Amino acid sequence: MKPLTEQEIRTAFVNCTKGEAKRLAVPRDLADVPWADLDYLGWRDPQAPGRAYLVAELDGLARAVALRSPTTAGGHMRRSMCSICVTTHTGGVSLMVAPKAGRAGQQGNSVGLYLCSDLSCSLYVRGIKDAGAGARLHETITPEEKIQRTVANIAAFVAKVTA
Ligand SMILES: [Zn+2]
Repeated sequence: MKPLTEQEIRTAFVNCTKGEAKRLAVPRDLADVPWADLDYLGWRDPQAPGRAYLVAELDGLARAVALRSPTTAGGHMRRSMCSICVTTHTGGVSLMVAPKAGRAGQQGNSVGLYLCSDLSCSLYVRGIKDAGAGARLHETITPEEKIQRTVANIAAFVAKVTA
């Protein structure tokens, strides 16, 4: 994805107030982020592990989503599959919940998804990060197709949040 600045990320948030977007924790090392290897940038708030954020491109525009992650690491060790990158981890997938943008979100509507707990889908898809033995389904599609699927999945999620 295209590199983003802290300001661009803060203004891209779709499902929190402007004040929240100004205050929330954005990674400090944005210059060191391997943007070319990312389908989305995801991170957790180091001060509040139950809060996570991601920014992705939808129709060429950066869109950032605030997430709540009620289950913290070490909770359940069931094998589960990330719905974005289709990697299976033991205890490494979290249910994340995003309030919907605008009025729907104010009324309490949200969108849930199962996501790699470390928000590193892009790196698993590219084989840069290893989720352990048996982590990947035996699939016949090419790495490029897996990347396209990840991009499509994250875009579909962001579209659901903004819908
Ligand atoms: Zn994933």
